[in-house]
Amino acid sequence: MYPVSPNTVLANALSHAVDVLTPRVLDAAPERIVFAVGTQINGAPHIGTSLVQSLTFATAARLRDKFGVPAEVQFGALDNAPYAIVSDHETGHRYQRAYAHALGEQGIADQVDTLYRPLFNALSERLHVPYSVETYSQQQAGEHFRRTWLRVLPRMDAARWWLAPSSGVAHLRVPCPRPGCGWAEKYAQRTHVQHTEADRATISAVCLHHGEYEVVIGPDGEGYLDLATLYRNMVKELAVTSTRGTLYVMVKGGDWVFGSQLVDGALQAVGLTQGQLPARLFCPQIVSDTGAKLSKSLIREGRAPLPEGAAPWMLDTREWPGLVSEYVDRLLNMTEVVLSDPRHFFRSYSAGELARMMTAPAARSVPAP
Ligand SMILES: [Zn+2]
Repeated sequence: MYPVSPNTVLANALSHAVDVLTPRVLDAAPERIVFAVGTQINGAPHIGTSLVQSLTFATAARLRDKFGVPAEVQFGALDNAPYAIVSDHETGHRYQRAYAHALGEQGIADQVDTLYRPLFNALSERLHVPYSVETYSQQQAGEHFRRTWLRVLPRMDAARWWLAPSSGVAHLRVPCPRPGCGWAEKYAQRTHVQHTEADRATISAVCLHHGEYEVVIGPDGEGYLDLATLYRNMVKELAVTSTRGTLYVMVKGGDWVFGSQLVDGALQAVGLTQGQLPARLFCPQIVSDTGAKLSKSLIREGRAPLPEGAAPWMLDTREWPGLVSEYVDRLLNMTEVVLSDPRHFFRSYSAGELARMMTAPAARSVPAP
């Protein structure tokens, strides 16, 4: 079922939605293209996540075919998402414990295998686009990520107002290293970088249960380095700009359009030129009847109703009434529709409209004019 989509400045400038990436591909003349897409590992995926993920694979396939360059997908499983948040009754400071610390490495691997691999395997097979999975825990432990962070640390004065425009303090967290603990001050009030050398930094913090402690972050993976979202994105994107021959495309939901301006500002503040910024692809957002982003947590907490025409499987894709293969068929049909005209791509979809597109019989209609 083809939607009716209005013209926009961007859509009017393009023949195909993926053409938005053409200047970056021509400029970089890459040997391969990597599409990086991240998702918080905090329970079952909802339709917004599936839409972004399936569009990532579909766009990778189209760019590969258009330019004859191998394309792959890197899935970032953000296991640093908060699993539990409590208040310290002494200070009132908020403490969080991430999924990585609550579930452990094997627990996270099981979640990824159960909740994401079936869809990824199917998309990868159908579109012949290889993919890999990396958790945030693995990423932060990597030498290149850590050296990138250590290099940018002395330049944080230039970046901090971009990463935290209201306070000027870009949060970093070092969860308590005691076995079985892992609590960290959410807003890092008492977390301080004490010493910085070229290849290590010492950070002091205060645990909810164990008092003061220090963590050394060096290139070898010792200690756990968690960064606030924009800060993490800056370091992650700095780390990939030094990769020669590879063009990285950061794929995100449309709600990131606004936040990415700050990340781009931070990247330029620490020395990247405009041409070195990673390519970005913003996918359609799924919105409620009020036009706000469809939020599983708001609906679950009873603070927002299930939108008109939406179904429970849209909030928890495990509830899709059918086989995974049928779900993948529907998703791929939808990506065809959304990618068939730039007007269908650079817009949002209400949950009700998306439910219709996912469940209506596949129409052999002509693309919108
Ligand atoms: Zn502790």
